[in-house]
Amino acid sequence: MKRQLTVLAIGILAVAALTVVYTAVWLKGQTGQGTALVKEAQAAGGKVTSATGTAPDRYVYYPGTEKLAKDEVRVIACGTGMPDQRRGQASACFLFEFGNGEKLIFDLGTGAMRNISSLMIPYQYLTKVFLSHLHTDHWGGLSSLWAGGWTAGRPVPLEVWGPSGQTPEMGTQYAVEHFLKANNWDYQTRAFKITPVPGQIKVHEFDYKGENAVVYQENGITVRSWPAIHAGDGPVSFAIEYAGLKMVFSGDTTPNKWFVKYARDADFVIHEVFPPPEIWVAWGNQPPQLGWRACCEFHTSGQAFGKVMSEIKPRHAVGYHFFNEEATRYVIYDSIRETYDGPLSMATDMMMWNITKDKIIERMAVAPDKSWAVPGTMRQPPPEKGREPVMSEFIKSGEWGPAFNAQNKVLDEHSKKYNLQDQDWRKQKPWYKPTK
Ligand SMILES: [Zn+2]
Ligand SMILES: [Zn+2]
Repeated sequence: MKRQLTVLAIGILAVAALTVVYTAVWLKGQTGQGTALVKEAQAAGGKVTSATGTAPDRYVYYPGTEKLAKDEVRVIACGTGMPDQRRGQASACFLFEFGNGEKLIFDLGTGAMRNISSLMIPYQYLTKVFLSHLHTDHWGGLSSLWAGGWTAGRPVPLEVWGPSGQTPEMGTQYAVEHFLKANNWDYQTRAFKITPVPGQIKVHEFDYKGENAVVYQENGITVRSWPAIHAGDGPVSFAIEYAGLKMVFSGDTTPNKWFVKYARDADFVIHEVFPPPEIWVAWGNQPPQLGWRACCEFHTSGQAFGKVMSEIKPRHAVGYHFFNEEATRYVIYDSIRETYDGPLSMATDMMMWNITKDKIIERMAVAPDKSWAVPGTMRQPPPEKGREPVMSEFIKSGEWGPAFNAQNKVLDEHSKKYNLQDQDWRKQKPWYKPTK
């Protein structure tokens, strides 16, 4: 009897001990919210159930293969780096794709076009560009989208939204007007050979002093702007509202009262963050007196970024505008974590997010390095009738006939295949010797 009681007591003790251990582990899981949030932000991979099975999710997004839900937004980082862009990181650019089919580009920094083109979106849908300010690392890629999209089949003009400045010469209207002047040779030659329409840019300049002012409202999307503090008057930050979601893009800015007021409670906030002073000295080769101003007076340091996020409490924060690598990532991450413990992405090129009311998921877009442009539903208008050629008779007289005539076989075949006989440009050439 005594022996049975002892066995029973040991049994009860063992169950109790196991219960304590189990509860402790469970509680730890509950309190480890930080880890849970990171896991949720990274889209669970799912179980592979057999040797020939496939995983439901591989943490990647293959561009052009996923339809958005009506109330969903996809954001793709097409540039996250610095003005001195490098092969792995272009300058600032974020593409917003909405469930209703709209696509808006926020900043178009130098080099970003290579990331944009790898997404293989027909250029007829990439026509709306919003500029936070006129530093080239935020709009230097406009030349590539303008001319590259034109040669790749964009049938319509581009539209650019951007802030005014203290004087007209410091505003977006002036910048784009003179961009077109500087690119006049490019414009005239393409306008004659292809068609002039895609070379036009319609500018919507708005007041940089506007506070949470609506600068765009179409198809259920509202874009608002407020002043940013960065380098001079003019820069702005944007809020993008769609399907009850509020997303924010800071552009370049130091911490400021407008951001804290108008970005409050946003679902998704992209904000610049700079490495600490020592990184600028050790890696950026900057003099120390510039290093501590670059990070912490002209831009936003990790601690300052974290402080802003803790105040506005977004569902998900994204830091960008730094060379993202081992040397910098953790230093900046740790500095943010001194003041913010919420969900966070350290952006690099091609990182992307799906945003809905229920979930915000971070993944990487995996796109080909050598993509071609994809056609859409519209075709470019034909060359404009009566447009004066921009090549003189003097230059044309230099064409060397034997090499041109060497192409005749391939051109004859092409002409026959596509019925181009009445458009045969060779017939006016003095060197033309038709193949018998
Ligand atoms: Zn800037
Ligand atoms: Zn910048």
